[in-house]
Amino acid sequence: MENILIKNGRVLDPATNMDQIADVWIVDGVIKEILPLSSDSMTVGNIEADVVLDATGCFVMPGFIDLHVHLREPGFTYKESVETGAKAAAHGGFTTILAMPNTKPTADNGEVIRLVHKKGEAVGSSRVLQIGAITKGQEGQELADFSEMIRAGTPAVSEDGKAVKDAALYLEGMKLAAAHGIPVLAHCEDLSLVRGGVMNDDERARELGLPGITKAAENVIVARDIMLAKEAGVHLHLCHCSTLESVELAAFAKKSGICVTAEVCPHHFVLNSGDIPTDDGNFKMSPPLRTREDQEALKEGLKKGIIDVIATDHAPHSPEEKNCSMKEAAFGIIGLETAAALTMTELVEPGVLTPIQMAEKMSYNPAKILKLDRGSLAESKVADVVVFDPRETYVIDANDSYSKSRNTPFAGKTVKGRVRATIVGGRVVYER
Ligand SMILES: [Zn+2]
Repeated sequence: MENILIKNGRVLDPATNMDQIADVWIVDGVIKEILPLSSDSMTVGNIEADVVLDATGCFVMPGFIDLHVHLREPGFTYKESVETGAKAAAHGGFTTILAMPNTKPTADNGEVIRLVHKKGEAVGSSRVLQIGAITKGQEGQELADFSEMIRAGTPAVSEDGKAVKDAALYLEGMKLAAAHGIPVLAHCEDLSLVRGGVMNDDERARELGLPGITKAAENVIVARDIMLAKEAGVHLHLCHCSTLESVELAAFAKKSGICVTAEVCPHHFVLNSGDIPTDDGNFKMSPPLRTREDQEALKEGLKKGIIDVIATDHAPHSPEEKNCSMKEAAFGIIGLETAAALTMTELVEPGVLTPIQMAEKMSYNPAKILKLDRGSLAESKVADVVVFDPRETYVIDANDSYSKSRNTPFAGKTVKGRVRATIVGGRVVYER
């Protein structure tokens, strides 16, 4: 096990509210000591490290935790695999990622969950946790075996890709999740309101001549799921919120004492439908880019703490599935390797979030939601760490990627902030 000294960085720990220049000393996979520069320099001088990382000018944060990733294995490894996804995650500063269950076969049983975990461990990069499906085959007919999936190590259940249509069945599933003490991660979308839409239903959709998706498709299910969660007494986590109304409903739920947390994806706070330049499949995702008003509401929600988490919804697809009209393209974009830079550029740099809030939304809060002992750099904690340089400005290059896929609308965008190193359990898994 490496003995690592991260020197002279700005250490940001939301768990202890630490924000100061310090050295971080990692021994045997855990944080041994945080040594502020004011401390006895003899102590620092005495440290013998196998690896010394100079973090001067960089943020040193607890490793990012992504609650929302599609790894496409088993079943769709032409898009991504556990290996390429975990490496892309490490490249993006993520030390733990949660894989959604819409694989083939569906991750609705212990066998698939153990398979993904085993592959993740073999890769030895970012930690991979597989989320279990709520219903068998995600078909919405019968609940999956939660006990079996939890025994295999799943930390949460989700039907991501769709909502559970049958409210009674969903309520039963939520009660079961509550009994097991795990959260339900909800993709909120009423398919009967989508009706073949490919982008938000607004002026821009009419200009491009493309069929729109009403915001109500998201809003009605957010409202329904909050009410179901209240009844079930479960922790409901609202995935990829994209509308002003979702923020308002999450605020209502929190004020009412209902156990609800909410996430937003970078593309929804960076872009709005007005930014879609042409009928380009790389701008198609579910939920779609909304209006400027929604975009501003999401930023405000993050700032006010109504939105707890920034997650990527990393959704790799092949060029054939994306380099076409939005009418034919698959839903989703990749995001693991651009999330931190986009958050820095669009939220931290303009002062919407402080650097410590960035660490909170990308690491500390996701850990709390999963009840994982992560998201902190306090002494004796597992050394999952990201060294992030907030100063470097560059243009996003879709080919500077460990993912198998290239479907991003951010290629060519100038951003600020680059991951320098990612450490998982005291091991450097990525270094630039
Ligand atoms: Zn989703």
